[in-house]
Amino acid sequence: MKNLNTTQSIRPNFWKEIDMTEMNKLEWEALCDGCGKCCLLKLEDEDTNDVKFTNVACKLFDDNTCLCQNYALRKQMVSGCVVLTPENIERIAYWMPSTCGYKRIFEGQPLMEWHPLITGNPNSAHITNNSFKNKTVPEYDIDEADLENYIIQDLG
Ligand code: SF4
Ligand code: SF4
Repeated sequence: MKNLNTTQSIRPNFWKEIDMTEMNKLEWEALCDGCGKCCLLKLEDEDTNDVKFTNVACKLFDDNTCLCQNYALRKQMVSGCVVLTPENIERIAYWMPSTCGYKRIFEGQPLMEWHPLITGNPNSAHITNNSFKNKTVPEYDIDEADLENYIIQDLG
């Protein structure tokens, strides 16, 4: 879901030229490639911070569209949902997937070649098989105690 403030626009090559803290809302939202990976449940070792993702998706994740079903109210509806900001990206980036547009720009890396900002196609993460569209198990279909059984080795 994109911000509808029409007074803002996306500046050319903003992700290469503009600091994250200076991006407008539209630009910030456009950094997301739509992969859906951050909506997967994960297991984290508290001592080592080692994170393992599963293919079990948050209860608000729509597997058919690879979108949150209530993006605007996501934090109110799912307390563990992380709302990324320029201020918290440093604290959160360690567990984000290596392909994530926010993580890559924060770490000074180029966006993935299949990122919609590179391809010009909003569906390119799905078309190139780099999203979790139609690949997840709903959170409400599993027993939380079985989460380890759904760990995925290659997040892509
Ligand atoms: S992992 Fe990053 S790029 Fe992928 S959906 Fe989440 S915020 Fe967007
Ligand atoms: S609430 Fe929405 S954005 Fe947050 S993790 Fe769940 S599906 Fe993803």
